[in-house]
Amino acid sequence: MPGRIPQHFINELVARTDIVEVIGKRVPLRRAGHEFSACCPFHDEKTPSFTVSPTKQFYHCFGCGAHGTAISFLMEREGMSFVEAVEDLAALAGLTVPHDSDPTHPVHAFLEHFVKSLIRVDPRSEWAAGGDEQRVTVGHAALAGVPQ
Ligand SMILES: [Zn+2]
Repeated sequence: MPGRIPQHFINELVARTDIVEVIGKRVPLRRAGHEFSACCPFHDEKTPSFTVSPTKQFYHCFGCGAHGTAISFLMEREGMSFVEAVEDLAALAGLTVPHDSDPTHPVHAFLEHFVKSLIRVDPRSEWAAGGDEQRVTVGHAALAGVPQ
């Protein structure tokens, strides 16, 4: 199971995505000053109260209160999951979606075990000091053959 998608990537993705392009493919947008407007795709209306802001990178409907980023637009309109929407937009932006490493991943469990066995052999080593994160780092280095 992949780890969660880091927030900094989500921020970068939203910043690099042209929300007007994403929404404009699905809803006919009309330029209105600095923003774009359309009849809202989320509720039934005859006069446009749905606006898209390319500078703020979000949409807002004054009629029904729909509001969000390109990610939430894809989720609401296309029925995508959060991860699907992120992957779709990342593909458009030419980015690869990173996943935070999952602490319950078997490799981490293995490294934890490996470093603990090193500590048993040499309890006063620097492996014994530091938190779990350092142990995992040390474990990676030891496995890669880096002298400590
Ligand atoms: Zn609306």
